[in-house]
Amino acid sequence: MEKTSQVSGYYKLKREERLAKVKEFAGLTDDEAKMLEAGLGFEQAEKMVENVVATFRLPLGIAVNFLINGKEYMVPMATEETSVVAAASNAAKMCRAFGGFKASSTDPIMIGQIQLLTKDAKKAKKAIEDNKKKILETANAKDPRLVSLGGGAKDLEVRIIKTGRGEMAITHLFVDVRDAMGANAVNTMCEAVTPLIEDATGDKTLLKIISNLADRRRAMAEVTVSSEELGGAAVVDAIVNAYEFAAADPYRAVTHNKGAMNGITAVIIATGNDSRAVEAGVHAYASITGRYKTITSWEKDGKGNLHGKIELPLAVGIVGGATMNPSAKINQKILGVKSAKELSEVMASVGLAQNLAALRALSTEGIQRGHMSLHAKNIAMMAGASGKDIDEIADVMVKEKNINVDRAKKLLDERKRSR
Ligand code: NAD
Repeated sequence: MEKTSQVSGYYKLKREERLAKVKEFAGLTDDEAKMLEAGLGFEQAEKMVENVVATFRLPLGIAVNFLINGKEYMVPMATEETSVVAAASNAAKMCRAFGGFKASSTDPIMIGQIQLLTKDAKKAKKAIEDNKKKILETANAKDPRLVSLGGGAKDLEVRIIKTGRGEMAITHLFVDVRDAMGANAVNTMCEAVTPLIEDATGDKTLLKIISNLADRRRAMAEVTVSSEELGGAAVVDAIVNAYEFAAADPYRAVTHNKGAMNGITAVIIATGNDSRAVEAGVHAYASITGRYKTITSWEKDGKGNLHGKIELPLAVGIVGGATMNPSAKINQKILGVKSAKELSEVMASVGLAQNLAALRALSTEGIQRGHMSLHAKNIAMMAGASGKDIDEIADVMVKEKNINVDRAKKLLDERKRSR
């Protein structure tokens, strides 16, 4: 039987049953399944950050139904936000009818910046460019493994920028980081080439650091969704109208993009990647033209179906940094990704699915209905409910459309008195 990520009624299964399905799908060993359940241990935590006293857990949900470039994916998502996993699964299901997502990505090129303080930026630029070959060789000597894998420093460019303290010459080192996120690799190379730049120009360098605006390392995905799957022509029009609002207004665009990042960031965290690096890069990329724009776009195609696209910088890896922690490795195994490029293509597809789900909900029933049931449970817990009381109080509040802590406390008191 062909492997599929489509599991009907996955959400209705018990947690243990869901884990068993993932274990089977991804071929996890018993130990791996146990490690996934146990989460990060103190010993690993102490190797990751300083002054550790405990670990902080997040729910790990699995989004099902993803079909990307003809391959089936179950997607581990670490998130604290209600409805994200369900919405991604639901949207991915709707996207299957026309073959799922088509995704691609650029080479994994990161940018390292070396700041030069100079009285003559033009002269400095020329001197650095004249030494390009030597600079690239020196950078590459720092990471022979990366070079042997086909990566390494590939090129450089010198930008003259006007600052509050005069012109500065900024060298951009373009490094193909292969399957790493690349920050440490690039920072090391930038530091290594600094003496060469100082010698060539006779000037002093200051900062040597990666740029999180990874605009040369982008992932793209697109999808066509049938009008019937979405609920008819009116829903397609509503989604396109909702998108055009975001395309025209940064106040809406930022929330639109946040919706896409709900999915992407959840996969970033599950795979041990750096969410701050990606978030910073995405929002800078969205405003690179001088006006903040959406990272996705939606239109009605000639047959009345919905067509959507996403494009964003995605500096994520499957080696290096915290991607090596055991839970992150198991989540990468569940995804079945073999390269950083593939991981970024999955993330772009998840972002597009998440955005579709949010736009559909917002432009039809409103976002709150989907959120209500879990939100009501959270409110019941805030009011002090436990065990069976949580679900029963939440149900009453959802039916009454009156979900607040005061009402939950009243319902809890009534239940306690009647016992
Ligand atoms: P790393 O330092 O562990 O280096 C990864 C190494 O993996 C590379 O040097 C390369 O030689 C090697 N590599 C690449 N592809 C490979 C492959 N296919 N097989 C085997 N080896 C391969 O990790 P990194 O990715 O350079 O750094 C990422 C970390 O840096 C993240 O944890 C991030 O949070 C942190 N960081 C981020 C910033 C920032 O974003 N501004 C700044 C500093 C540090």
